[in-house]
Formats: sequence, C-alpha cells, structure tokens
Amino acid sequence: MKSPAQDQTAREEFRDLLNSSRRVVFLTGAGISTESGIPDFRSPGGLYSDPDNVNVFEISAFLADPSNFYRFWGRFLPVLEQARPNPAHRAIARLQDSRRVTVVTQNIDDLHQRAGSETVWCVHGTIASSRCLDCGARIETFELYPVIRKGEVPRHSCGGGFKPEVTFFGEALPEVDWINSQSAIREADLLCLVGTSLTVFPAAQLPAYRNPDCRLAIVNRGSTPLDGEADLVIRGSAGEVFREWGMGNSNQ
Ligand code: NAD
Repeated sequence: MKSPAQDQTAREEFRDLLNSSRRVVFLTGAGISTESGIPDFRSPGGLYSDPDNVNVFEISAFLADPSNFYRFWGRFLPVLEQARPNPAHRAIARLQDSRRVTVVTQNIDDLHQRAGSETVWCVHGTIASSRCLDCGARIETFELYPVIRKGEVPRHSCGGGFKPEVTFFGEALPEVDWINSQSAIREADLLCLVGTSLTVFPAAQLPAYRNPDCRLAIVNRGSTPLDGEADLVIRGSAGEVFREWGMGNSNQ
C-alpha cells in the first residue's frame, strides 16, 4: 500500500487506475453525501453525535414504537429535500460513458440515481418508497411527506403504519441488490470505496468478493479497515477529489 495521501500525485494515480479499468465498482457510504449536506453517522457532527438518534434505525425499536423514528425523520426531511448530487456523484455517473460502472451504495438518499448513474444497487434500500406493515401496500414516500413533515406516523387506509423501504439494523438486506452487488464486485477490475467507514456489516464484507486481480482504491476522510490492503488510499473529501479533476461540474 502507498501511504494515505492527499497530494496531486495520488490523485493522478487514481485517475490512471480509473483510465486503465473497464469494469469499475464504486462502493459508497454516507461520506459521499456529506458534501450534499446530509450528515453521516460517525464523523464529528454526524447523526450519532446526538444520543437520541442512535437507536432510530433499529428495527426492534421501530416496530415497538415508530413515533421516535418519525419525529427524527420529520426534523431530517428538510435536509434530504434540499440535498442535491455533488461533484462526486456526478463524476461517478459520467464515468459510465466510457466503461462499465456499477454503484453499490449503502446510502438511502437516491443521490446516485439522481446524478444519472444507471446501475445502482442499494444494499440498505431506499427512502424513495414505503410499505404498509400490515397489508404490504407500497407507496412513493413523497406522498407521505405532509404527514412525515409534522413528525407523525403515516398510516395506510387499512390502519397499518408505513415503513420506508430502508434496511434497518436487525433486518435482512434486499436480496436482489445484495446478490447483484456481489456479482459486480466479483467481475470488477477496480473496486473503489468512497466515503465509508466500512464498519456496518454485512455491507463491509462486500470487498472480500473481489477477485485477486481486482485493484482496490479508497477515497475517504478517515481510515478504514482495508487501508492496508489497498493499492491506493486518498485521505480526502470525495467532492474535492473529483472536482479537482474537472469532473462532475455539470448540472447533470
Ligand atoms: P459512516 O458514517 O460510518 O462513515 C462515513 C465515512 O465517510 C467516514 O469514514 C468519514 O471519514 C468519511 N467521510 C465523511 N465525509 C466525507 C467526504 N466528504 N469525503 C470522503 N469521506 C468522507 O458511514 P457508512 O460507512 O456509510 O455507514 C453508515 C450507515 O449509515 C450506512 O449503512 C448508510 O446506509 C447509513 N447512512 C446513510 C446516509 C445517506 O444515505 N446519505 C446518511 C447517514 C447514514
């Protein structure tokens, strides 16, 4: 491994790695969206800095009483509504013009899709849709926003409460996204981790599916458990790394 670096040489090496790759997988986490204004969990000022937030994504707590989650989401919704894809999301989308790019994301914010990435596997689901826990009725979550904005629990006409199709801690991962993520990583010649602490399992196991010839690059502000195995580690902000290349500046 090269030393974690923020310098221009490391960024040029990253560009070379991308330019010499035909099948790239970006495994992204909450850190790629912090520059869109959405806090991550574990950075200073992240969602876990407020002790009230630590259990909001626990399925047992949600099923026992969803009101704490929806109070949180009512406060958090304006942040999500204002968030736009940043240069890192846009650059990743643009890379698909010249090679096969798969995005495997732990994020639920839909920003890769809005940036234009075509193949996005959401291993922790998405906030875009919700399901009634009683009858299974599915709805676009934005239709529930007037209720969520008030911090209240949205209910279906059958009386059941809605849950966003986000994977809470304690729930199984969406099977199709999980299996397709593994396949894409097995076939990749470059795996690039962006903005993830790699501490949430089982998503943190995904890099282990890469083949022995697959190169590993990491763009992250903090350290990760895989830094020692990586071909290149850039310790920096994803938005800056991609912006400085002159990539991702369009309003795509
Ligand atoms: P995490 O909070 O554990 O780690 C984020 C990592 O990103 C940290 O190592 C941090 O140093 C780094 N980081 C922060 N800002 C960065 C930036 N601008 N550029 C580069 N690196 C940056 O997040 P995680 O590993 O994704 O795990 C947390 C879980 O929380 C995931 O399951 C995810 O689904 C969920 N989550 C999602 C969102 C979202 O959808 N935007 C937000 C918060 C949490």
